[in-house]
Amino acid sequence: MTSIFSKIVKGEIPSHKIAEDDNYLAFLDINPLAKGHTLVIPKREVDYIFDMDDDLLAGIQVFSKKVAKAIEKVVPCKRIGIAVLGLEVPHAHIHLIPINRLEDINFGRPKLQFSNEELAETAASIRQVLEK
Ligand code: AMP
Repeated sequence: MTSIFSKIVKGEIPSHKIAEDDNYLAFLDINPLAKGHTLVIPKREVDYIFDMDDDLLAGIQVFSKKVAKAIEKVVPCKRIGIAVLGLEVPHAHIHLIPINRLEDINFGRPKLQFSNEELAETAASIRQVLEK
């Protein structure tokens, strides 16, 4: 079955895109733990991140680094935390989350609510940094 993230890759459902290349796509999480919470996925659908081939897995880290550095410039934080869960969406993804303290990356706590406009604005600001 096509994952919801593959539908985002194909443009069948909307997302707030941050960056993409031939192999990877980064977009904002719709139920974020923090402003700027971003997901990075391989465009090729693989469920479990450790089933990705070595080159694709290495590449997603490098791609995520570039995205994380841009998020940092838009969302003041101590650092960008990374997490991999995959318990909800069976398409490998890395969470990039601006954090200041441990509880900022606690997936058990209630998610933040941002309007579509706020998400669009955040995504545009991060894209702007990447374009520089
Ligand atoms: P997990 O699979 O446990 O890593 O969680 C999946 C994440 O994907 C959650 O943080 C969701 O908020 C996020 N998510 C689910 N559907 C979408 C979507 N259509 N656009 C952006 N983020 C999504």
